[in-house]
Amino acid sequence: MLNFISRSYKTQFQPLTASFLLYKKITEQYRNPGILKKIHSILPDQIIFQTNKQDQLVSVLKWFKNDFMNWAPKDVMCKRCINAHRSGSQMIPMEVEVLLGSSWKVRSFEIYNCSTCKYRYAFPRYAEVLKVAETRTGRCTEWSMLFGAILNSLGIETRLVHDFLDHCWNEAKLDGKWFHVDSTLVLPFSLNHPSYYEENWEKKYKYVLAFTADKIEDVTQTYTLQWDTVQQRRLKDNDKNILNFTKIYSCLK
Ligand SMILES: [Zn+2]
Repeated sequence: MLNFISRSYKTQFQPLTASFLLYKKITEQYRNPGILKKIHSILPDQIIFQTNKQDQLVSVLKWFKNDFMNWAPKDVMCKRCINAHRSGSQMIPMEVEVLLGSSWKVRSFEIYNCSTCKYRYAFPRYAEVLKVAETRTGRCTEWSMLFGAILNSLGIETRLVHDFLDHCWNEAKLDGKWFHVDSTLVLPFSLNHPSYYEENWEKKYKYVLAFTADKIEDVTQTYTLQWDTVQQRRLKDNDKNILNFTKIYSCLK
């Protein structure tokens, strides 16, 4: 995969290359006509036939969050115990074990186990958009990867954005300009509210990067009202690795 990167370079950048490769593989699917056709077929007619792109974006944000996707919480209570009306001390969150997947297609498996009734189930973290469209379940990664595919299937060019802290979302291009879009948030915050995370979640960014299949872009300035502080943070940590991101990205296969 990284044939022309030396061994030491590869080791040094391993965590970064793994996430870069994932975002490259996801956004490559945004250019696959067969995948986009299938994604398009799940959309309701009233969204497909909207002619104003901005209105269409608002409609699809509402439909996706309210009617289509399910959130996968990290703390899960056992459904079987709830159905059996167990309560009090018997109701403790299920234990979770994370197993790494063997390729970008299945990033990991979260195995949930109930210590009370021994019920077990697996939550696979897929990175194939058609798989996510089938399971309709996930967290911000699954939501943003599928939402990006949906917008691209509607002819709205869309990319993935990751803050390298704990969240990812999308950007959609309208009238030649990229706009912040986050299908996990509610309107109006889900559209064009780039400073939402810093103002509400106290984000302390160093790098916010946007991904298309062939390009990676540093979009940190879009998301911060504290650009000087972000720059000082970068200098202080002397984090040179990520500065090579365009070089790394172009080498990934
Ligand atoms: Zn149980």
